[in-house]
Amino acid sequence: MNHVSDEEIQAYLVRGTLSNREHFFEHLRNCELCRKQLAAYRVVYETLKNDEGMLLSADFSEKVVREVAGDTRTNERLREFLLIGLSALVSIGTFIWMINLQHLFQIGKTLVHSITTTLVTEIPFLNRINLSLLISGLLILLFINLLDNVLHTMKHH
Ligand SMILES: [Zn+2]
Repeated sequence: MNHVSDEEIQAYLVRGTLSNREHFFEHLRNCELCRKQLAAYRVVYETLKNDEGMLLSADFSEKVVREVAGDTRTNERLREFLLIGLSALVSIGTFIWMINLQHLFQIGKTLVHSITTTLVTEIPFLNRINLSLLISGLLILLFINLLDNVLHTMKHH
């Protein structure tokens, strides 16, 4: 989503000018983050206007906004990066999982066709692979569940 810039919000509040009035209001209607950003700027500018004795630079007010409102859009980007990272992790996990399954299947086939003493000694080794797969699978599920909870909490904060 293309958020309205801080410069646009400042220009609108200070001078009442907008390069693209239609896009600005259309976006604000649909974007809670930008509405919050505008509200935060408005609070600061109103405070500055009502307190004319204070000589504060625009740079200072910007810092206050970041302090007071927090950069929610940065959090949104962080969430996007987390999701991308998670997808990559799951893809890699699935890939490794499939290779291992193929490997197990291959060994299983060999086991069925020729039960030799060499293969019998490999059975504990096979069990260990199964166990590690099971554990990593559970860990991935737990991690996804945890991340889902965190994202859900952040979304409805
Ligand atoms: Zn926005």
